[in-house]
Amino acid sequence: MAKRDYYDVLGVSKSASKDEIKKAYRKLALKYHPDKTKGDKSSEEKFKEASEAYHVLSDEKRKNNYDQFGHAAFEGAGGGGQGFGGFDTSSFSDIFEDFFGDFGGGGSSRRSSNRGNDLRYDVNISLEEAYKGLEKNVQYTTYKRCNSCSGSGAAKGSKPIKCNYCAGRGKVRTNQGFFTIQQTCPQCSGYGETIGSPCKNCNGNGKTQGSENVTVKIPKGVDDGTRIRLSGKGEAGTKGGTSGDLYLFISVDNHNIFKRSEENLFYELPISFSDAALGTTVEVPSIDGGKSKIKIPSGTQHGKQFRLRGKGMPILRRSLFGDLYIRVDTQVPTSLSKRQKEILEEFNEIETNKPDPAIKSFFEKAKKFWKKS
Ligand SMILES: [Zn+2]
Ligand SMILES: [Zn+2]
Repeated sequence: MAKRDYYDVLGVSKSASKDEIKKAYRKLALKYHPDKTKGDKSSEEKFKEASEAYHVLSDEKRKNNYDQFGHAAFEGAGGGGQGFGGFDTSSFSDIFEDFFGDFGGGGSSRRSSNRGNDLRYDVNISLEEAYKGLEKNVQYTTYKRCNSCSGSGAAKGSKPIKCNYCAGRGKVRTNQGFFTIQQTCPQCSGYGETIGSPCKNCNGNGKTQGSENVTVKIPKGVDDGTRIRLSGKGEAGTKGGTSGDLYLFISVDNHNIFKRSEENLFYELPISFSDAALGTTVEVPSIDGGKSKIKIPSGTQHGKQFRLRGKGMPILRRSLFGDLYIRVDTQVPTSLSKRQKEILEEFNEIETNKPDPAIKSFFEKAKKFWKKS
């Protein structure tokens, strides 16, 4: 049998607009949709024919090809001579979502699930709190299960009835031989059940807004950006659906001494240049609030790093600790007293006669370099 002209199939003229094509197809699809015609073969054929025509004419590129070459434009392109070349079922099901989403005047509230929303709660803690761990009381506004109907959404004495359209599945499937379309049940909007008489307290939603209060244990070792999930502490689901989760997003404030990189801590320790030269012992802070003594040996260079093992942050969920790294930051005096200046000038004189080996070696290399160039 010869293929019918796509424009004839949809009953539109060649100059029809995109909208007119869509409208024409919608009309035919509703009329011949297998959900309505229950196994009638000729309707199924008509539905397929209309769908194929729409598939081509709704797309500008395909439509141009069809206008130019007719059915030949789509033959042999993987369709095995059926003229269904380049057929893409995924874009096809989009068309159906588009068309049947508001089937029955249910509006655009298509929902695949009645699970409650997840919630986010931001928590700022100090580095000391992250070190020790803490319990935090979190108060937030959320949807809670309605007390009057225990979340069912049905008024007292009335029970939700299993949807007869989808047999409680919330979705209806249509087999089209080589493809299957799944769509949200138009009768129950995907809930699988309908309510005869809705609960007055929650308008049939099964949930009401209220405040919630939970105490959360924030474990020691949490880092900036750690997320803690409290399962089921998010919004209650609609009509008895499962609750969402509550996520705590942890931010750890910057500390005025310690810098953190994962489990290790760092800071720079300013020491005078005479302490660096002569050596000393310094009491330094650690994150546990205590003091540690570090020995600065004589002749310590600027930038020298000391490591205090186990004085860093706790490692999350393990009984291990990172380290504390302390970097020497030698201070060159910027304002000298008269006496300091005298002593330094004397020091400088002696130093010129007995120069530092590193300085001496550098300027010997420099001399050779200048000679060559
Ligand atoms: Zn209720
Ligand atoms: Zn249903």
